[in-house]
Amino acid sequence: MSSKSTRRVGLSIAAVLFLFVLAIGWISGCGNEKAEAPANNPIETSQAPAPAAPAETKAPEQPAAQPAPAGSKKRVVILGFDGVEPTIVDAMFAANELPNLAKLRDGGSYKPLTSAIPPQSPSAWSSFITCKNTGAHGIYDFVARDPAYYIPKPGFGRTEHTKLDASGAVTQAARFTSYRKGDSFWKIADGQGLKITSLMVPFAFPADDMSQGHMLCGLGVQDIRGTDSSFFSFSDTYEKQESIAGGALYPLVFDGDVAKVTIPGARDMRNKYGAPGAFVEVDISFKVDRAAHTVAVTTQTETITAKKDEWSQWVRWTFELSPSYSVHAISRFYVIDAGEHVNIYMACLQYDPKSPYIRFTTPETFSGELEDRYGLYKTIGWDFDTHALRKDTLTEDAFLTDVAQTMAWHERLVLDEMDKEKNMLIAAWTGPDRVSHMFWRFRDPKHPLYTEEGSKKYGRAVEDTYKKMDEIVGKVVAKLAPDDLLLILSDHGFKSFRKGLNVNTWLVRNGYLNIKGQPDAATAFSDDSNNFLDSIYDWTTSKAYSVGMGSIFLNLQGREAQGIVTDAESSALIEEIKGKLLALTDPETGEKVFDNIYTREVFTGESAANAPDLQLAYADGFQSSKPTASGRAPADIFEINDDKWSGEHASSDVANTPGIFFANKKINTDAPRIIDLGVTALTYVGAKVPADFEGKLLLDIGERVQ
Ligand SMILES: [Zn+2]
Repeated sequence: MSSKSTRRVGLSIAAVLFLFVLAIGWISGCGNEKAEAPANNPIETSQAPAPAAPAETKAPEQPAAQPAPAGSKKRVVILGFDGVEPTIVDAMFAANELPNLAKLRDGGSYKPLTSAIPPQSPSAWSSFITCKNTGAHGIYDFVARDPAYYIPKPGFGRTEHTKLDASGAVTQAARFTSYRKGDSFWKIADGQGLKITSLMVPFAFPADDMSQGHMLCGLGVQDIRGTDSSFFSFSDTYEKQESIAGGALYPLVFDGDVAKVTIPGARDMRNKYGAPGAFVEVDISFKVDRAAHTVAVTTQTETITAKKDEWSQWVRWTFELSPSYSVHAISRFYVIDAGEHVNIYMACLQYDPKSPYIRFTTPETFSGELEDRYGLYKTIGWDFDTHALRKDTLTEDAFLTDVAQTMAWHERLVLDEMDKEKNMLIAAWTGPDRVSHMFWRFRDPKHPLYTEEGSKKYGRAVEDTYKKMDEIVGKVVAKLAPDDLLLILSDHGFKSFRKGLNVNTWLVRNGYLNIKGQPDAATAFSDDSNNFLDSIYDWTTSKAYSVGMGSIFLNLQGREAQGIVTDAESSALIEEIKGKLLALTDPETGEKVFDNIYTREVFTGESAANAPDLQLAYADGFQSSKPTASGRAPADIFEINDDKWSGEHASSDVANTPGIFFANKKINTDAPRIIDLGVTALTYVGAKVPADFEGKLLLDIGERVQ
């Protein structure tokens, strides 16, 4: 085997492992479960080779403060609510269910907000943060592909774990590198001497280096293993220890009332503890009181009592990798059953705010200060346990209780921060999005998982999060000064997800993609367990392929490693594929599958070279299938979505998947865009706006100053 092919296999393994357990949302379930690692060997973030970086254990130096601009007494407050769908807001307005937002609508502005292409959180929030289109900031999807190797990789950034030398000393601290191009607008404000606080804005990780700004990172912060969230589920009904998508199952064997389990914690990159990928293991014991329906959980250092149907208090963990280096984590429990059978859920091992694996606040001490103020708090960026709910290791009620409690803690934090003297306060909540993803099945009677009973019980779970949003807005408005500008956004709307399109299978059937060893395009399909795109497809004859939530890439000469499509051929080929897909209908219902298909010209800027050649924009009910995200081609073109992940927007059409926009002042357009808020905020507080920010002013407050 040549060194090049050895490297390729290594890369493929890393990328495939990434897709099995790491990726956000339902992608974590797209891997073949048979192929997953054993339960004591959860998989890490892709460790694809990166340029060697200098050892770095100290926080980078902070930039020097600039004098505050004139007029800097003004304040902008921006509240973000992920995934709020305007048609539901309108229906709730009609029923007088959102009184505080209605006041803003009547006294200020309420409009649909144009999202990014595609209208999914990585691209949309990155557009909000940078005031640029996707082609400029370069975050196209949860999943990207490497044209040199045709393999999927994380779409927004990469974790490097702590490196230790043989003595156990740290030679490089763990760190996360974002692929995003462009600074956040709040960092721009901080650089001009303004006081800013940014709280839990999705995909703003790592924390910005700022002279005086405060920042708490949200979505993007991983668990201590570098996954978006890996849960633990313990039960005496499990027969064997096994990994499932998004977590692992551990059987409990009781001796009297007590069961003991060993669980893997932090990963030791030196593999000191055995096989590659070994983890520092710790013991945990459960003593069940079946009459009281409680479980006493004993960890390394403490015993807590967890009650049935309640989230427990947080516990701390220490994973000692060497005499001089330990990884610290926190977690908590939810007892689902503590009677005849025992079933205990444990949330992922997330960063300890007093000693985080990777800094997730600015200044570094801010995470610990928040613990001093509020006690231990959830630090994982993927902050709701969707994987566990999908796999039935957590209940709907436990999930919704957590959503309510987490939204309330974020609210408390934001209201407290409003009492401080700031020029900009930006805060986001992800609860509405996650509840919509998981509970859409109970609001769409055509969804395969819809039931009357479920609809009665959970059919308004999404509305409940909107009511909470309205309460938060009311409390924030009550704290505004007369001159304060309030902007409220959601990054995109929502659609139902009833059927998945196996895009690669469609490409195979239509002669654009060829599977090795299966010359009959009418029947060829990829092995379910095979995620190695190099071994599935014959790149010497294939013209196009799909990786990610809604992207098609040509096998382009000079870009893809084994590209065969010339530049001269590419435009006609793109138009041909686009035309055929736009004509595609569901053979069962006759419904059209796509509302639109965008081509790469819609993306402009320094990252446009990485853009997909075709960006799919599905009609309501359809999305790319799970196997498509990892590049596979199952036997059938369509597949029923019988997953609880039942609402989606990742590859919907930006033209009909707007978010919402509210302001406490009249704006100057009926069509605000997600890239306009940062520009408006900077101008309102008297800051200069960088020339490459694409957004426009939404208020008639003069010209933006560059
Ligand atoms: Zn979403």
